[in-house]
Amino acid sequence: MLFSDGKVRADYADFVDRQIAAVRRVHAGEEDLPALHADKLVRTLVAAADSRQFGSVLAGWRDEETVVRARADEPAVFVEKMLAELAVLSQAEFRSGSSAVFTRPIGEFLHYYESSGTTGDPVAAPKALDDLAANTINIGEMWRRVLTPADSALILINGPFAPAGYQFEKVMEYLGVLSLRLWVDNVTGDYTRILRLLRELSVSTYVGSPSRLLEMLHFAYRHGEPLPRFRRLLLMAEQAGPSLLRHLERLTGAKAFVGSFGSSETGTTAATCEQGRLHLQVQSYLFELADSRGIRPVRGDRDEGELVVTCLDLRARPLLRYRTGDLVEVTGTPCPCGVALPVVRTLGRVHDVMRLGGDGVRQEDVESVLWAENSPEPGHFTVLNYMLVLRGSDVVCLLTTDREPEAPSLDAVRRRLAGLFDGRNLSVRTVPALPPLASLGSYLGWKLSRLVDLDDPAMTDRLPPPIAEVVRVSLAEIEASTGLRPAIPLTEGTR
Ligand SMILES: [Zn+2]
Repeated sequence: MLFSDGKVRADYADFVDRQIAAVRRVHAGEEDLPALHADKLVRTLVAAADSRQFGSVLAGWRDEETVVRARADEPAVFVEKMLAELAVLSQAEFRSGSSAVFTRPIGEFLHYYESSGTTGDPVAAPKALDDLAANTINIGEMWRRVLTPADSALILINGPFAPAGYQFEKVMEYLGVLSLRLWVDNVTGDYTRILRLLRELSVSTYVGSPSRLLEMLHFAYRHGEPLPRFRRLLLMAEQAGPSLLRHLERLTGAKAFVGSFGSSETGTTAATCEQGRLHLQVQSYLFELADSRGIRPVRGDRDEGELVVTCLDLRARPLLRYRTGDLVEVTGTPCPCGVALPVVRTLGRVHDVMRLGGDGVRQEDVESVLWAENSPEPGHFTVLNYMLVLRGSDVVCLLTTDREPEAPSLDAVRRRLAGLFDGRNLSVRTVPALPPLASLGSYLGWKLSRLVDLDDPAMTDRLPPPIAEVVRVSLAEIEASTGLRPAIPLTEGTR
């Protein structure tokens, strides 16, 4: 970051030095975490008292005496007590007026961003200098275990309003890694120029969503371009289970990592180490887990639930006990990399389960069937990508493949999948390209992007304007290839 103002420059350098030192102490297990948490929570509550969202509940924190008393408390007791007192902030409540959490005038932020807003109202997610630096250092200190300055990175994140592309560019700057932040037109989906640059520059690393990568690989297949090869994939923004990671590794020759986890509004709550495990960034967040039994703090042991976060390094727009909608498992076992941060596994979004009668079918169930280890049987083909279409008792699985499969091998896939769809009429067919919804997994989640439930009104009437056209085109393509139409027709100009 360059600043003409000498004092800003000096203060920033000092802040960055202290932040890096603290992160490294936390990684090494040498930091007094309860004391760090208590100190950052006090500062966060004092800041939050200046916001419309928390101003009345936290009015007492504008009083110096409250701060003095809090600082006299035993740190761990203070943090636990405050978490018990603060209300949980639901996504719906936050979305109804996200700028209410601002504690500074908008002009004091550095960059304005919003969440993509494709599944609801966009939420304000501007970046201030301090939270941008803290988040960049958090990711950078993890990724420097994976990347070196000899690497180069393609950042392929279509989303001009959201901060992710810019954020990862800052991380590459931090690591001294050459980066290209590129773009593909959502309509034409033309990757020719990107593929050329990947070849010319021998780009080693892909940063972006799995569905975007799959779309680029499929484009290369269809256009007779050589498949891009990478050394590693740093994937994010949508659920990537073991089957999907192995699938992408086979296609690209790379080692695939779930690179980071988080959201535009919270920042990056977890980042990968060289062992491919996501570590919770406990120096910058208080983490809790919610399920039907209630909400409890993340401690060292194995646990799972919906992640609830209190941001400690986001004082320009604090989020206190914010329900993220993301399901995670805290593994409770230390990582061989030696970093003293808890390891977490992502389990998808709370709503990303396909309900079919009794048990749900999950993304991983489908993908472990479709992307089972390649068999050496003759006529073998590779499934590149898929979309499931549901309508009444019909399930149609649309596939893109590397070559046109023989009928018996396609039927073998159908038989393997049939186990998941007991009592339904399952058919499998190949298409030259999937409907455009399939590449929007990072915005819509798995269920809305790969699983088109034509009986679900959300598919046709609850999706907001930015993707209404994509949905319309997708539904038309689905009808053309399967004959299936939505139960409730999509009306012109609807949202
Ligand atoms: Zn690790």
